[in-house]
Amino acid sequence: MTKISENITTFKKALPEDVKLVAVSKTKPISAIMEAYKTGQRVFGENKIQEMVEKWEQLPKDIEWHMIGHVQSNKVKYMAEFVSLIHAVDKLKLLKEINKQAQKHQRVISCLLQIKIAEEDSKFGMSKTDALALLNHPIISELKYVKIEGLMGMATFTDDEAQLNAEFSGLKHFFDTHKTTYGFTTLSMGMSGDYQLAIDNGSTMIRVGSSIFGARNY
Ligand SMILES: *Cc1c(COP(=O)(O)O)cnc(C)c1O
Repeated sequence: MTKISENITTFKKALPEDVKLVAVSKTKPISAIMEAYKTGQRVFGENKIQEMVEKWEQLPKDIEWHMIGHVQSNKVKYMAEFVSLIHAVDKLKLLKEINKQAQKHQRVISCLLQIKIAEEDSKFGMSKTDALALLNHPIISELKYVKIEGLMGMATFTDDEAQLNAEFSGLKHFFDTHKTTYGFTTLSMGMSGDYQLAIDNGSTMIRVGSSIFGARNY
């Protein structure tokens, strides 16, 4: 076994059955993705649309591609044909564009709203208040080609477990409070450094890159 297949196999054994693993393959070559694919992994996450398109073109078509990065509206068209989940929707304008491009391909694209839970300014995402305003906006019912499946959050980059717990549990509470009203099924939180705490706090989907593929060289 290669290092990657070993990592991913070990990783999956330790995961609760109801937590979905997104293998974050950004910056990693096709060969690395194929190693993970051969272990049975089918869900991969990328944060740049161009890179995801190039990989989609070259790789088996039963891969589920997740866009986990910040999305500019003018680039949605490049991934609308195939993307299976967009994790970081943070504006109505973006949701409308996803709807428009999805309609062209006669498919429904699943989306998550990214909620800002970290202290750092650099992290994208909406406030909970803005997310509710978006969810309650009358136009949402007209967007037939998008489905808001749940929420995504990125915690502060810190070793402080109390802080991570507070951020994750705050998002989980918000998710639970509104999940029946809006039909949420997916709560995407947790990365290599904090996925265990995220799972303990009710995450249903983790996005793990470096623990599977090794450190990234930018
Ligand atoms: C890169 C990235 C990840 C994975 O990060 P690792 O620390 O390598 O697991 C998860 N989520 C998002 C949004 C990312 O950009």
